Amino acid sequence: MTTPLESRNALLAKTVVSNLEKRHFEAYYCPTAQEALKKVLDLIPEGSSIGWGGSMSIRDMGLTKAIHEGNYTVIDRDLAQTPEEAAQMQRDCLQADYFITSANAIAEEGIMVNIDGTGNRVAAICFGPKNVIVVCGINKVTQNLDAAISRARFVAAPINAGRFDIQTPCKITGKCHNCTSADSICSEVLITRTSRPANRVKIILVGEDMGY
Ligand code: SF4
Repeated sequence: MTTPLESRNALLAKTVVSNLEKRHFEAYYCPTAQEALKKVLDLIPEGSSIGWGGSMSIRDMGLTKAIHEGNYTVIDRDLAQTPEEAAQMQRDCLQADYFITSANAIAEEGIMVNIDGTGNRVAAICFGPKNVIVVCGINKVTQNLDAAISRARFVAAPINAGRFDIQTPCKITGKCHNCTSADSICSEVLITRTSRPANRVKIILVGEDMGY
């Protein structure tokens, strides 16, 4: 039996997917992370080169593991032996057939917001990889663009800061101080209003809480 939460998620997703499509994103709704994992693998032809940005969502759902087990050329900077090799892998991702990432927030009107420190992830979303696949939990959908920016900056970023060995005020207090630290993970704030070319950016909205 469908729960009220599942019903609401499906209804909200219908609106968001429709609004994303009007902005030329290829958009899907998957009620569960398992269905989203299958959808991602269905979208990517065998033999493709695949890279990804730092994302808890795509690791937690088992996607990176599944890609490693598949017939793909994988660019995984976590396997780099040196910082130089990791940096080269970030550049290699810009020429990949597919780049996979999550989003920090998606406004109901179909606009995506992402924050980045070094900028490799937002760079790949903007330009480079032939295709970008975004897997985003419905917990990251916000009422409007202002709320999406606020969520990315003041909810997601201070939590994500905890994943890195950096010295930022948010790591001490748990809240954003709008810092200009050299370690700031908020150097770049990307607002993706449309997909150009059409359908280059494919967004899979998942009816479960995923990531921060
Ligand atoms: S304190 Fe700095 S690094 Fe932390 S969330 Fe705010 S701007 Fe980002």
